Amino acid sequence: MEKKSLKKYFENKEKTCKEYQKTFGDYIEEKLSLEDEHLLVLHVKKCKECMEELEATYMFASAFKFLEDNDDDEGIRTDIKDLLKKSEEEYNYVKRHNITLIVEIITTAVLIGVIIAFFINADIREMLLWGK
Ligand SMILES: [Zn+2]
Repeated sequence: MEKKSLKKYFENKEKTCKEYQKTFGDYIEEKLSLEDEHLLVLHVKKCKECMEELEATYMFASAFKFLEDNDDDEGIRTDIKDLLKKSEEEYNYVKRHNITLIVEIITTAVLIGVIIAFFINADIREMLLWGK
């Protein structure tokens, strides 16, 4: 009984292959959020079945787009790896940028703290001197 509920917990935590596959269309059209894109990329890299499904969806979508709009200079794009690479680069860029921002905020906060501490100390010193 306990094992069962634990299994259910993990199943809820991680999307199933079917759920990922449902989002492939949106992924190819770049409609997914960065976080969702990242999870999808991580999943297809370790799940052969989903990678194949994504490749097929991508090829089909590219071919369809080419037929619809045949003056497209890029022709039919069939290599899903370019798209996956692009997603990873975007994600890494944003993550790095976020970390830089956090470091900047912390540095500023520490600096303000030091300045405040300095003024408080000066005040306390002055008060002590005044008292004497
Ligand atoms: Zn899968």
